[in-house]
Amino acid sequence: MDLNTVNRVVPARSRADLRELGEGAVPLAGGTVLFAEPDPRIHTLVDLQTFGWAPFEVTDEGLTVAATTTLTELSRLPDDHAWRAHPLFYQCCTALFGSFKVWNVATVGGNICTALPAGPMTSLFSALDAEALIWRADGSELRLPVSELVTGNTTTSLGSGDVLRSLHVSPRSLGSATAYRKIALSAIGRSGAVVIGRLDPVDGSFVLTVSAATVRPEQLRFAGLPTASDLRSAIEGIDTWFTDAHGAADWRRAVSALLGEEIRLELTEASR
Ligand SMILES: Cc1cc2nc3c(=O)[nH]c(=O)nc-3n(C[C@H](O)[C@H](O)[C@H](O)COP(=O)(O)OP(=O)(O)OC[C@H]3O[C@@H](n4cnc5c(N)ncnc54)[C@H](O)[C@@H]3O)c2cc1C
Repeated sequence: MDLNTVNRVVPARSRADLRELGEGAVPLAGGTVLFAEPDPRIHTLVDLQTFGWAPFEVTDEGLTVAATTTLTELSRLPDDHAWRAHPLFYQCCTALFGSFKVWNVATVGGNICTALPAGPMTSLFSALDAEALIWRADGSELRLPVSELVTGNTTTSLGSGDVLRSLHVSPRSLGSATAYRKIALSAIGRSGAVVIGRLDPVDGSFVLTVSAATVRPEQLRFAGLPTASDLRSAIEGIDTWFTDAHGAADWRRAVSALLGEEIRLELTEASR
């Protein structure tokens, strides 16, 4: 749709161009959210795609994914490093049931910064214990876990003018066995729950990330694979379930417990 209040688009090519951000001036990535509904407060868009950031960088330190990477690009992440967690990237992309038109432009950063509970990139990078690199408006940099960047239903810890630059995934997370479950009220509906388990390859610790069913990602950590009853108790102890058109809070809680148990069994099998 046309954004009638926008009278300026700034193509960002260096970090100095981000000084344009602030009250009424916001980052533009794929535009699938920004151009979906009018926000009369916005007068300026600062286009991040003109930075031309490489979508991925692989080093001995792990994988870095630029915020401007599209879901299409991420879904095609080359599988040439024998990362055990590799299937999770494609699986999470499919948790956003947009058509190819949406996948081709929607970005990883736009998804996380929109902070919908059903944000599949929030699910993915939280489950991998990824670290977000934030370019702060004051010129400094901040690194924090993605699970802490999203603070609630459409809220983040970003300040005005802050930009999510990239997501970093460690070799340890990439080498983890993972198990993924998603459920929605209809076959191509928005996720009601996305539950992901990750078994650490070094110390055998287990982390279950519950998202889409809760207002922000919830992570349950155990020294090893828990018993069924310990896992169920921990899931039922979560207090951020919510109700909307995509599911009731009590349904989300119940299905998350079932999916969590499926994941526990799958990773028990994988660890044998
Ligand atoms: C058919 C359809 C289905 C969809 N399904 C889902 C779904 O299942 N789950 C879901 O979560 N979303 C869904 N969406 C919403 C949207 O497509 C995605 O969230 C998408 O990933 C947003 O990315 P974008 O690059 O288009 O963001 P944009 O529209 O460009 O930006 C979105 C917001 O994030 C800010 N922003 C963007 N990049 C950055 C950055 N690097 N740093 C700081 N701020 C930034 C923008 O200023 C804006 O406020 C759907 C949309 C459509 C049209």
